[in-house]
Amino acid sequence: MNIHMKRIILKPGEEKRILQGHPWVYDNEVDRILDGLASKPIDLIPGETADVESSRKTYLGRAFVNPNSKIIARIYSPSKEGVDKGFFKHRIRDAVERRTLTGDMTPGAFDLHRDSARLVFAEADFLPGLIIDRFVGWSLRELESAVTPRPLTFEAAESALGPPQSWLAIQFLSFGMDSRREEIITAMEEVLEQDGFIIPDAVPLGHCAGVIEKSAGVRELEGLPLQEGLIRGSFPAEGIVIFENGLPFMLNLIDGQKTGHYLDQRDNRRIAAAYIGAAGGAAGSTGTPDLRVLDAFSYTGGFGIHTAQLGAAHSNIQVTCVDSSAEALGTVRINAALNGIEDRVAAVEADVFEYLRAAEHQKACYDLIILDPPAFAKTRSALEGALRGYKEINLRAVNMLKLGGILITCSCSHALDEIRFRYMITEAAADAGKRLIMLDFRRQPADHPVLVGYEESLYLKCGIYRVV
Ligand code: SAH
Repeated sequence: MNIHMKRIILKPGEEKRILQGHPWVYDNEVDRILDGLASKPIDLIPGETADVESSRKTYLGRAFVNPNSKIIARIYSPSKEGVDKGFFKHRIRDAVERRTLTGDMTPGAFDLHRDSARLVFAEADFLPGLIIDRFVGWSLRELESAVTPRPLTFEAAESALGPPQSWLAIQFLSFGMDSRREEIITAMEEVLEQDGFIIPDAVPLGHCAGVIEKSAGVRELEGLPLQEGLIRGSFPAEGIVIFENGLPFMLNLIDGQKTGHYLDQRDNRRIAAAYIGAAGGAAGSTGTPDLRVLDAFSYTGGFGIHTAQLGAAHSNIQVTCVDSSAEALGTVRINAALNGIEDRVAAVEADVFEYLRAAEHQKACYDLIILDPPAFAKTRSALEGALRGYKEINLRAVNMLKLGGILITCSCSHALDEIRFRYMITEAAADAGKRLIMLDFRRQPADHPVLVGYEESLYLKCGIYRVV
């Protein structure tokens, strides 16, 4: 035992949440900090590790600390585990293996050799503050010159250019992780490039063509600068193309939002597209009616492109993607072209609140509306105002849906729980004077795991409703 390991002693009763699996210690929960077995108080240094104990000296785990953050300690282990390259390799390997073993898709379908995925989801993978997304694909420019038929397929890309390459987007969101970035990157490269996995037939995932650091506002809460950019290898200037549910999507890891592509909606996009037939059929039309889809807060068109492409067999479909980012809408147009569906997808730059207000005023109606806004409630204190925003867009959407039409409504605010989110929909439907049937209620996919006891990890809600 390291007798100099600092000890964070909590106030009485503050251990309960931690014993249930929550990894954070807030600064106001700490009674005192001791220097190892000595009883003398001592200060913490940002980024170092320390042991956390209850007021009765029950051992709770070892944590990365940051005395300059309200979250003063983030527990990474229930035991006295040290942190070195081997630790990171072990943790990353475990996280990658969990992704190849779990999933709500058929076994083997979640194939890291072709699918882009979140490999490490911070606290929920016992690496507090570390996020690693891995994107699998080809350079957009090389693909455009090598393969002409549209829609572009994975198979056509592979036969023209050989196996896909991979790129990593990484976020260091805690001081503990940021101060160990070199060790982490090396550990990650060694796990992915050299090691096979314990699971049958597993082979190394191969060399990463580039590693890109992405930033996030929470870094400021840790006293870290908002820096981002290429930190290893290279990234094609025009962007890359990945395949999601078999459909091509262009993304630019250097300029894109979040980590470049919202991987967490992968399954919900596929499901959304599967509902398009039901939306049209329920309208009671004969033949092949026109189907109108609104993808609000579309970003690069993830939902809209899926519905336009996978729902195309059902009827003549028109999808409108609305977003306030001109750059994201430029990518919507590229994605529509890669999918060979430019004629079915319109990209409109607008504030969604204003767009919905105007559309409702003009008595627009839709068969399917997707609402996937950014997190309106970033904190619990922002919840009331956020709920008004969620309700407004949901109310207007319900008002514009045809009888039999389908609403796919999402929230990625972890501060808004499922019960309150559903109650907001209840209120919106009541105000609109419409009845809704809940067809499905979905969460995030398996590569964004939910750690029991750490409710912040369960953040994505996706309700699917039919107007009846
Ligand atoms: N549905 C997308 C992800 C949406 S992320 C997908 O499947 O990939 C949220 C998006 O909302 C961002 O692209 C952001 O530019 C956009 N946005 C935020 N506030 C907005 C507003 N008031 N009006 C329009 N777009 C907005």
